[in-house]
Amino acid sequence: MRTIIGQAIVIDKRDYKEADIKVLLSTDRFGHIYAIGPNAKKSKRRFTGGLNIFSLLEFSADRKGDSYILNESTLLNENETAFSGLNPFIAASSFTEIASRLYTLNNPDETAFYRLRFSLEHLFEQGNISLVYSFLKSSMIDTGEFPEFINCAVCQGNIGGRRILFNYFKGGVLCNECMKKDGRGESISHNLYRFMLSDEPETGTFPDNVIRQGIFLLERYLRFRLNVTFKSLQFI
Ligand SMILES: [Zn+2]
Repeated sequence: MRTIIGQAIVIDKRDYKEADIKVLLSTDRFGHIYAIGPNAKKSKRRFTGGLNIFSLLEFSADRKGDSYILNESTLLNENETAFSGLNPFIAASSFTEIASRLYTLNNPDETAFYRLRFSLEHLFEQGNISLVYSFLKSSMIDTGEFPEFINCAVCQGNIGGRRILFNYFKGGVLCNECMKKDGRGESISHNLYRFMLSDEPETGTFPDNVIRQGIFLLERYLRFRLNVTFKSLQFI
């Protein structure tokens, strides 16, 4: 049996059978994995500090089929206890939901783990909406799902400057010529467009409502492309 040891963040948790808990983990070296904590509902001795959502753990587990059985875990940082209000909780839920929807299982990806870890930690220092946007954008870039905003998504030509037309089906902004051929799409404001083109949005540069529009544009885009909905983003 192959034993793996490492760090992980709990990104989803549910009851499993009578006394077990099943968790989805973002791990440092093994990607996202499903793992079962035997008897974890009744006894916390093997899982010191518990298996709560957002917690950073050190763990050991054995592979069994497509998932894993946890041998033991130790809590390193219970991110949840630091929440002072509702918004950080929603933001943290968004991080974990985005991470669980965009990254595939059992696919080693250190970037995904450390992005989630640092985003959760940052949340308590500067809990603001741009952090959610950055997390969503980076995760989409990592997984090749971020839309085209610079050139026309169809002909790669210049999109022109007057009306910015975004087409969910073609994967980004379109020039006028291509939009004429495929009339679906929506016009986005110049302010929102400048925001979508900017790198890491710095606090204060763009107002929250523009950042929120950016999140919803990407959310609708993912709903269309991957057919997934994000429950947590509705509360942003
Ligand atoms: Zn074009």
